[in-house]
Amino acid sequence: MSADTCDVLIVGGGPAGSTCARTLRRAGLEVLIMDKSVFPRDKVCAGWITPQVVQELDLDVEDYRQSRVLQPINSFITGMGEQANAAVSYDKIVSYGIRRCEFDHYLLERSGARLRLGEAWKSMERQGDRWLVNGEISAPLVIGAGGHFCPVARFLGAHLGKEERAISAQEIEFELNESQAAQCSVTGERPELYFCDDLKGYGWCFRKGNYLNVGLGREGNHRLAEHVQTFARSLAAQGRIPADLPGKFKGHAYLLYAHGNRPVIADGVMIIGDAAGLAYTQSGEGIRPAIESGLLAAANVLAVNRDYRRERLSHYEAALQSRFGERGEAPALAMLPSKLRLGLARALMQTQWFARNVVLDRWFLHAQLPALSS
Ligand SMILES: Cc1cc2nc3c(=O)[nH]c(=O)nc-3n(C[C@H](O)[C@H](O)[C@H](O)COP(=O)(O)OP(=O)(O)OC[C@H]3O[C@@H](n4cnc5c(N)ncnc54)[C@H](O)[C@@H]3O)c2cc1C
Repeated sequence: MSADTCDVLIVGGGPAGSTCARTLRRAGLEVLIMDKSVFPRDKVCAGWITPQVVQELDLDVEDYRQSRVLQPINSFITGMGEQANAAVSYDKIVSYGIRRCEFDHYLLERSGARLRLGEAWKSMERQGDRWLVNGEISAPLVIGAGGHFCPVARFLGAHLGKEERAISAQEIEFELNESQAAQCSVTGERPELYFCDDLKGYGWCFRKGNYLNVGLGREGNHRLAEHVQTFARSLAAQGRIPADLPGKFKGHAYLLYAHGNRPVIADGVMIIGDAAGLAYTQSGEGIRPAIESGLLAAANVLAVNRDYRRERLSHYEAALQSRFGERGEAPALAMLPSKLRLGLARALMQTQWFARNVVLDRWFLHAQLPALSS
């Protein structure tokens, strides 16, 4: 049987894979995306994107919102524990809410890549200067974009889940019925964020049109389900969300940039998005770094004139570092003893000034960091 050949095989059709594919396709490369799921598929995620993401994707907002949820956001409530402390408003749209089942499908179809969906990566072996994937797809370059548990990242030596300090999160998203909508005081333009008392994570409730997304993510997965249930019960008791959440919370994990050290290049291989452990350290926002890494990887691919030896791909590794900084960089306040740090952070978190200027503008909106031009 002759192999299915392409210029670049991308494993994973999430935002990282589809963004990278689109740039390569527009430059004339033959790109194949393989994904184990059939799209539209869901992804455990709050579904919050900033205007820089809209710009980087060159997203036609009017076209997108015609038949999909695009919730404009212009304010936030932040709090500690289960207590709301600060309401912060802006005089413009500072974020959007999307549904991942719609967003990822839209980007994948728009990428122009050939698709092999419902097909999982199983193996890959070197054949001269090409890779043979699953014994039937031949490509000189394989890009691993399979998310946190990406099999190509594992193939390069990442110790997925074992020695990594990952964030574990649980989330539920559902359409509100009439009585649930009446019991929900969270509004679309004003999501709510609640930091855990020990500052090891945060919970959110986020309304997107008539859909509600509630979740909580923490470092490690110790008693995660308990934290999630306590959080949801408390919000329901305050009348912020309905008490009768349908279905179960779904879990997933991701690596924060400061805690990741997965290999991102090898001969004929690049790793992008969550597979490379790129989520912003303070907020866990991962869609923007996924998209940016897809753009940076594509720029490197187009610059090396089909020579995919490791040393030629190292510009991508350098570009990640220049964009996101050194891995393992100490967060602010890390030099202080932990008790003092916690006390200080708690006090700061409860002030309006800190909530706006640090938590929101710096950590969550990255207002200081312009979009990467594509
Ligand atoms: C609870 C939670 C809430 C979050 N909220 C936000 C948020 O509001 N905003 C934000 O910016 N980020 C958020 N994130 C992070 C964000 O979801 C990720 O950073 C983002 O999805 C990464 O995109 P990606 O393309 O790298 O990977 P993914 O979106 O995970 O896509 C990977 C793709 O690879 C496919 N795949 C996996 N294994 C295989 C295989 N063996 N073979 C073939 N295909 C495979 C999968 O089916 C999937 O389609 C959240 C994460 C969690 C867990």
